[in-house]
Amino acid sequence: MNRINRLSQRLANQIAAGEVVERPASVIKELLENSLDADATRLDIDIEQGGVKLIRVRDNGAGIHKDDLALALSRHATSKIAELDDLENISSLGFRGEALASISSVSRLAMASKAESDSASEGWKVETEGQDMQASLSTVAHPQGTTVEVRDLFFNTPARKKFLRTQKTEFSRIDEVMKRIALSRFDVQFTLQHNQRTIHKLLAANTNQQQQRRVALVCGPAFMENSVYIDVEASDLRLWGWVSLPTFSRSQADLQYFYVNGRIIRDKLVTHAVKQAYREVLFHGRHPAYVLYLELPPAGVDVNVHPTKQEVRFRDSRLVHDFLFSALYKALADVNPGDQLETPQLASTQSGYEQNSSAILSGQPDLSLVEPSRSSYGDRSRSAVANQVQDQVLALAKLHGDATEVPPLGYAIAQLHGIYILAQNAEGLIVVDMHAAHERITYERMKLACRKEELKMQPLLVPLSIAVSQSEADCAEAQQQALLGLGIELERVAEESIVVRQIPAMLKNSDVEQMVRDVLSDVLEYGGSDRIQAHQDELLSTMACHGSVRANRHLTIVEMNALLRDMEETERSGQCNHGRPTWVYQSLDELDKLFLRGQ
Ligand code: ADP
Ligand code: MG
Repeated sequence: MNRINRLSQRLANQIAAGEVVERPASVIKELLENSLDADATRLDIDIEQGGVKLIRVRDNGAGIHKDDLALALSRHATSKIAELDDLENISSLGFRGEALASISSVSRLAMASKAESDSASEGWKVETEGQDMQASLSTVAHPQGTTVEVRDLFFNTPARKKFLRTQKTEFSRIDEVMKRIALSRFDVQFTLQHNQRTIHKLLAANTNQQQQRRVALVCGPAFMENSVYIDVEASDLRLWGWVSLPTFSRSQADLQYFYVNGRIIRDKLVTHAVKQAYREVLFHGRHPAYVLYLELPPAGVDVNVHPTKQEVRFRDSRLVHDFLFSALYKALADVNPGDQLETPQLASTQSGYEQNSSAILSGQPDLSLVEPSRSSYGDRSRSAVANQVQDQVLALAKLHGDATEVPPLGYAIAQLHGIYILAQNAEGLIVVDMHAAHERITYERMKLACRKEELKMQPLLVPLSIAVSQSEADCAEAQQQALLGLGIELERVAEESIVVRQIPAMLKNSDVEQMVRDVLSDVLEYGGSDRIQAHQDELLSTMACHGSVRANRHLTIVEMNALLRDMEETERSGQCNHGRPTWVYQSLDELDKLFLRGQ
């Protein structure tokens, strides 16, 4: 064994840097957080060669006092906490006092600053050198605020440097970090340059509309057009932000921004709550998009659980989970066709970011078969034909008694191949998958009835006996009470036979035998009776599927219109129980484009 010796300052810092400074993007994260903690309202970022050659962040924040400059670069030096109790109540982004020390140990770092309190006209600049990171101070011309320059990242740690990717990749990670932070502080102006080229300039966004614009710039205009704004408060918790409509889902979980008291985090509990809220409306394997802000008293969340502070621990995690779930579940339930057809305001926002519209699963309302219209939806010039159509629809509206307004999903014109309903509203064409839509309506009704314990049962005139396997019969016997709760009364009459006596009245026209078989196999799969409760909705969904209009059933115009009206009133009616869209929309403008009208 070697004898023990004390590590040099620099080596100790370099070891710590292993956790905090993984790549150029992590440097940017720490520097931007420092500037925000110093109350800066303007941040200018300069990057060269993906951040490997140069990262410069200039802010107009409070600055650092001359006597503190050297200290700021040493480890465990922070102005943000002083004692243990402060850890319980952190309102700053940083608090560990190790970012600057770590970064300066693996790069050539210079920091210039002029403090608010400093009356002299010039500022001070600090650099470190040698194994013990001796700091050297000199005067420099500098306005109030701080500039940190990080050159030649990992020049002295070649092993780390090897892990870096191409300039382009490293820059795109920096870009992502900037986007995340830009969404956390709408009141701050950000500019980002790469190799002397301006990539983004985000002005401070103070009104709701400016904020929406920033979100659209960062997340793509399609997200803004296909999301709803929520703002929910309960006791000490507040959740606000934008969540995507279920039909704007993504193949990857890459458009998900979640902030806790202004700090972006990734958290299993949050992901789970959101996923649950989308469970019934999202197509299998798709991911929702969201930009959400959770605010709670600092004491309710522990931020000191991860070196890069990307994870947190909630003191009352159950409460937070349930709050998130119910707020989002309700928001999604409330989405109705009217909302989805609302005129998008940011249709043609210019953006330096890539557009995300290609990821729309199925365009609703953006069913563009062609490029989306560049003109804003509001001020289109209508052709005479379009006017005529609108008159017709309005005349229809009169006929139906709602004289002034055409309902969002309009009126049925015809049934197509026994599968789709064609309808027109004031703006264009609506196509409805009638089975999918009816299935959702039946399901939501059954859920309501079930929750109110009013699921009416109807005795079968002739009890139905069904031959089943022994395990199914065992299950039916064991779960008799639970099944009764679902509206099915049955009895085991032999080793491999059951008799069904009553079924939910709503399902009297369905194929009872098939339905009972499906329900039993679901019950078998999901196990004991305590799990039935959790899967009740899924069982109801199975039942709803059987009770809904099948393809190839002829519907009259009156029946079709009744279905459209039901859809407008039913929660989550935009998706069938499996998350597929129930209707799509094509505006007259888009139809005109298809036929190259007016071009
Ligand atoms: P922490 O942010 O955890 O306190 P850092 O190593 O990131 O640790 O920074 C050390 C200290 O330097 C901070 O506590 C702060 O007082 C000061 N500081 C760093 N960057 C800035 C800045 N841009 N403006 C003002 N003060 C800063
Ligand atoms: Mg910091």
